[in-house]
Amino acid sequence: MTITQEAEFCIDLHCHSTASDGALSPQELIARAGDKGVTHLALTDHDTISGLGDAQTAAQALGISLIAGTELSCLWKSHTIHVVGLDFDTSEPELNAALARQNDNRWRRARTIAEKLAKLKIEDLVEKATAKAGGDVPGRPHFARVLVEEGVVKDAAQAFKRYLGAGKAGDVKGFWPSLEEVVCWITGAGGIAVLAHPRKYKLTATKLRALTGDFRQAGGRAIEVSTSGQSSGDLGFLAELCRRENLLASQGSDFHFPGAPWCELGSIMKMPDGLEPVWHHFRNPVGVTAAV
Ligand code: AMP
Ligand code: ZN
Ligand code: FE
Ligand code: FE
Repeated sequence: MTITQEAEFCIDLHCHSTASDGALSPQELIARAGDKGVTHLALTDHDTISGLGDAQTAAQALGISLIAGTELSCLWKSHTIHVVGLDFDTSEPELNAALARQNDNRWRRARTIAEKLAKLKIEDLVEKATAKAGGDVPGRPHFARVLVEEGVVKDAAQAFKRYLGAGKAGDVKGFWPSLEEVVCWITGAGGIAVLAHPRKYKLTATKLRALTGDFRQAGGRAIEVSTSGQSSGDLGFLAELCRRENLLASQGSDFHFPGAPWCELGSIMKMPDGLEPVWHHFRNPVGVTAAV
């Protein structure tokens, strides 16, 4: 594992806090990023920007550059896809209205997940998952934690494999907007839309190329070339896809919680050479003189 791209920076553009399904509060996350030597961090909570204020205060105190971020759930040809938005105007009204709708969608989805899992005979499943989310809307990882606690499964991985993962009862997709819509929300707020962890969707190479093409057509500008848990083969494939589609390259750990050595803030495989980093195109570009 190599930490970052450009010697004087450590850039991580994808991670989660308790504002969505991460284990650390925004303040704790920033403190950990500081410990790991991260110089530029985008907090990208699922369908919310509610952690950014606290993160910004903590980042400023530590001299870390915080980039506005979020990770939006959407649908492309019946596949759930994640689009990371970076460096947008957090006060833009249409984006904020869209995020409020996503929050409603997530509540409706949470109730549907609970209905679908009713056969497990867990009482008050939504309430228990909501408690795990600190009173905010629960995501699938919060449901997974309840299933573990209730002894239905041995760990979160088994919860996803049996009940919450792709194609299982708790994989409820109907509530997400289209890929085109979420890209528009980000670009409309002056941000950069990034196709998150493209290898996670388990698409064939042909389908992934089609997705990338549609994403670009919709106004998407970057793909996450380097993320945690990828092989060097994946990295090479995504670098090639990035070049072919003439997209910018992003990198992010997708950190959720401490204790997973394969997924740590700032610890990302070095991107292959010859790609144009997305951070060169931020409103305050990072490392432009160093890289050109
Ligand atoms: P949600 O946005 O509520 O659908 O939850 C998505 C999150 O669930 C992802 O960002 C991951 O953190 C987690 N997740 C998805 N699939 C798995 C899996 N197979 N095992 C563990 N966690 C997963
Ligand atoms: Zn997550
Ligand atoms: Fe994701
Ligand atoms: Fe993520």
